[in-house]
Amino acid sequence: MRRIGLTGGIGSGKSTVARLLAGLGALVVDTDAIARGLTLPGGAAMPAITQRFGAAAVAADGALDRDYMRGLILRDPAAKVALEALLHPLIGQAAEAQAAQAAPGQVVVFDVPLLVETGTWRQRVDRVLVVDCEPDTQRRRVQARSGWAPEVVQAVMDRQASRGQRLAVADAVIDNGADVSLDTLAQQVRQIWQDWRQFPCPPGG
Ligand code: ATP
Repeated sequence: MRRIGLTGGIGSGKSTVARLLAGLGALVVDTDAIARGLTLPGGAAMPAITQRFGAAAVAADGALDRDYMRGLILRDPAAKVALEALLHPLIGQAAEAQAAQAAPGQVVVFDVPLLVETGTWRQRVDRVLVVDCEPDTQRRRVQARSGWAPEVVQAVMDRQASRGQRLAVADAVIDNGADVSLDTLAQQVRQIWQDWRQFPCPPGG
């Protein structure tokens, strides 16, 4: 077992679990950070974005103009599909390039918030690890961390897969509910790390 896909809803605790896995020796590939980097000034997605959406989609500093793109997507849902079609292969390539830096035998953890929503990731990992908590806990954590208005948090949650859809693809679930302490979370992560290290073949492999 070499490649773990780590996912969960916003605020579920993915980054916290990713840090714990890194502490156990995994190489963590953060696909959110990759996606952000692709649309910064000079980012690898910017030429294709300019070609597809025009100069209006590019801010003065050369980064993606997020306000413009948000407005465009609201007016034209096909723009969202086009943007994702353009970004997802680039995210995949950059993630694989990072994974190729793993030491021999090192487990690679792909932190993919939208693993369930963006089809190809499930086929690219040996196991899917889902960090799970109640929707109320997600809301509380995200609001505490970001100060976002409840309706903004809810809008993000509505665009993500449901809790049930995520659990349906999980090979293992980490419970990070309201009453789970960071110590208990770390214990669960250590247990899964041990279990999966002992079974080197993918499920059914
Ligand atoms: P996002 O999808 O927004 O990137 P995430 O799923 O990566 O979020 P984290 O950033 O790991 O989630 O956690 C969200 C917040 O909740 C953080 O401030 C984190 O410290 C806190 N948190 C996560 N799990 C616990 C826990 N078991 N006990 C206390 N605080 C927690």
